Parts: sequence; C-alpha cells; structure tokens
Amino acid sequence: MEKILLKNIHKEDSFKIETYLAGGGYVALKKALKERPDDIIQLVQDSNLRGRGGAGFPAGLKWSFIPKDPTMQKYLACNADEGEPGTFKDRAIIDNDPHLLIEGMIITSFAIGASSSYIYIRGEFEFGASRLEEAIAEAYEKGYLGDNILGTGFNLDMAVHRGAGAYICGEETALLDSLEGRRGQPRIKPPFPAIAGLYGKPTVINNVETLSCIPAIVEKGAKWFAAIGPEKSPGPKIFGVSGHVERPGLYELPMGTSAREIIFEHSGGMLGGKKFKALIPGGVTAPMLVEEELDTGMDFDSLAALGSMLGSGGMIVMDETTCMVRVSWIINKFFSHESCGKCTPCREGTTWLTKVLYRIEHGEGNAGDVELLDRICGNIFGRTFCPLGDGAVMALRGCMKHFRDEFVYHVEHKRCKVC
Ligand code: SF4
Repeated sequence: MEKILLKNIHKEDSFKIETYLAGGGYVALKKALKERPDDIIQLVQDSNLRGRGGAGFPAGLKWSFIPKDPTMQKYLACNADEGEPGTFKDRAIIDNDPHLLIEGMIITSFAIGASSSYIYIRGEFEFGASRLEEAIAEAYEKGYLGDNILGTGFNLDMAVHRGAGAYICGEETALLDSLEGRRGQPRIKPPFPAIAGLYGKPTVINNVETLSCIPAIVEKGAKWFAAIGPEKSPGPKIFGVSGHVERPGLYELPMGTSAREIIFEHSGGMLGGKKFKALIPGGVTAPMLVEEELDTGMDFDSLAALGSMLGSGGMIVMDETTCMVRVSWIINKFFSHESCGKCTPCREGTTWLTKVLYRIEHGEGNAGDVELLDRICGNIFGRTFCPLGDGAVMALRGCMKHFRDEFVYHVEHKRCKVC
C-alpha cells in the first residue's frame, strides 16, 4: 500500500515547509478552500474515517454535530497527548512531518467553521512542541494560517499548548479543562464537546493521526480512502509494534491487516526465535490476544468482536518468558498512579488492585487473592466517571481470562511458573 501518513518522515529536513511543499503539501488545502464547508464534512463522512485515538468514532459524523450558526465561536482541538503506554505513532508525525497535521487541521477548521485551533501536546514532548511551533510559524509566513488565508476570506489561528504529562488529559473533556488552565479532570457528558466544549463553545477534538488523514481524503477522494481495508473501518493505519519482536517500530498498513502478519512478517517475528505468548493489541487498556487469535484483522470491529479493541494500535508483543502477573501489576500500577482521583471506585479500586497484585507477584499472596481481584474488578467496572477505571479492569480481566493459572500458581507456590 502506498504510504500516506508516514510518506515524508524519512526525507531529509522532512519537518520543513519547503520539503512538505515539494512533496505536494498544501495542495489539498487549496482544493478544500474552493469547496463548501458542508461538502468537506460530507466527504469525510463518505470516507468512513474513524477516530484513530482509540474510540473509533466516525470523524465526519463528529464534525456534523457542530452547530451551523456562523456567528458562533467554534474551536478545533488536536489531541496530541499520546499517553497510552505502548503508543508512539503520533509522535512520529509531530516530530517529522508537522505540516501534514497542520494542513489537516486547517481543512478541518474550515469545514467546521472554527477560527481558533489548538494542539494539546503532552508535556514530555518538548521536542515535538518546538517542531510544531516552528512549523506553525512557517505556515503563517506562507499565508496558510492567519487572516484571509490564500485570499479566501477564511481566518484561522493555531497555537500549541503543552500539558504536564497527565494520562487523564488524553480523555477529551479532561483535555479541555487542562487547555482552559484548570486541573485536568473529566467532565460529565452530555453536553458533549460539539455543543459545549472549550470555553463552553462548540469544539471538535480529534487525534493527530485522524487529522493527518484529512489532506489525502480531500486530494484523492472518499471512495479511494473507503476502499482501503474493511468497509466499516477503512483507511491506512499506523501500527506501533514494541516488545519481543526482531524489528519493533511503526508500520503503516491497511486497517484490518492481521496481527500475525504485522508481527511475523513486518516486525520480523519473535525476538531470538522464542515462542509467542500474548499480544496487547492497542495500548495497555486493550485486552490481550493469544496465539489462536492472531489471524484477527487489526480493526475496530474485528477486535471488538473478540472482546478486545484496536485502541491506539500500539501493539505490545510478549514471548514465553513473560510473567503475566508481573505484567498485570505494572499495568495496574500505571492506572493507579494516573487515576485523577475524582471518583471512588477508580481512585480506591485501582490502588487495591495494585496492592493485591504486588503481593501475589512478590510471593506474599494469600489464599483467595485471585477471587479478591475478581471482586474488586466487579466493583470498579461500569461504576466510574470516565473510561480509565474500566480500562484498568479490562486490562486485568483480559490477562486473567487467558492466564489465570499463573495467578493461582503464584499464590500457591509463592513464585512464578515461567521465569
Ligand atoms: Fe478520574 Fe478515574 Fe474517575 Fe476517570 S474513572 S474520573 S480517572 S477517578
């Protein structure tokens, strides 16, 4: 498949506007600005582009919820928080091809009628933030941002806002609170951001990879995009492979490529020829897959049918030497640390899970601890304010579904059976 999202990243000076322009950059913007905004929204709806941040919500449909009143202030916020462990795809675009994202954001702002746009980037991405700021300055200089863009009368400002490294600020409403200068905590929904978002105004929030698909859709058409991969979740997808493989890295492939192909062909197979044990398919929240599930297509619907999810497409591959109790403890420790503390089941529950998992992992487990984990999960799942609590439970339940015997062995023998 022709590369769309990663086509520029290996070019010399790939981050500069001259390189981007030489590769056909900003042609889609010129084309889009000749269209009616509603036609761009329809085009994106027809392409069936689904959000690449994790939820998989149709991007064009989300845009269509923005009120049409031209006198109303509207905003576009790009979610560049990328905090899900195992995920490193957006960073490649931000660092190496920032104009792809910026062009996608300008087209999106034009379509929804936004005159201000923000890139909310996680605090640790200091390098990426400076790359984006340089690229935005270049775009202003060339007349792609600012007043009367390319003589069309369309005005748009764009700014980078650095977060402070909180995982919860990747949740869209917590992101908005943080962008407004408050402590990042999820808001109650409804109202949804399309109606009352940033500063209470209609706001679209899209992920970096989602917005980076827009120039190609405008240039090549909805039919072309919709023909890549499965009908219900088409398009190119960046899979970030890490863990026990020979060639970890980013692979841009059609959505729906099987996990087996990604691991054993593109990523070079298992590191050192060891046996495959498990795959976390889409960042640590996504329940694990085992060997017999590897022929599943890596797309939203196929993974959901298995009780897992595509999430961010951050694939963590584990070999036969991996202790699943230790993996679960580390993952839960992360969720416990990142819980914003707003609601009790998540704040207390993830802490308890981590404590019980710690003692099982360290040979101090008590009889009944495995059942205790089940009960704590039951008291968290479906009872929390935002998806973080559910995510912690899904990760643990996904692991215990396949490897419960390892948890039981740890408790009974006070040691690990695999390492
Ligand atoms: Fe905060 Fe966790 Fe509640 Fe989400 S589920 S609001 S992260 S305490």
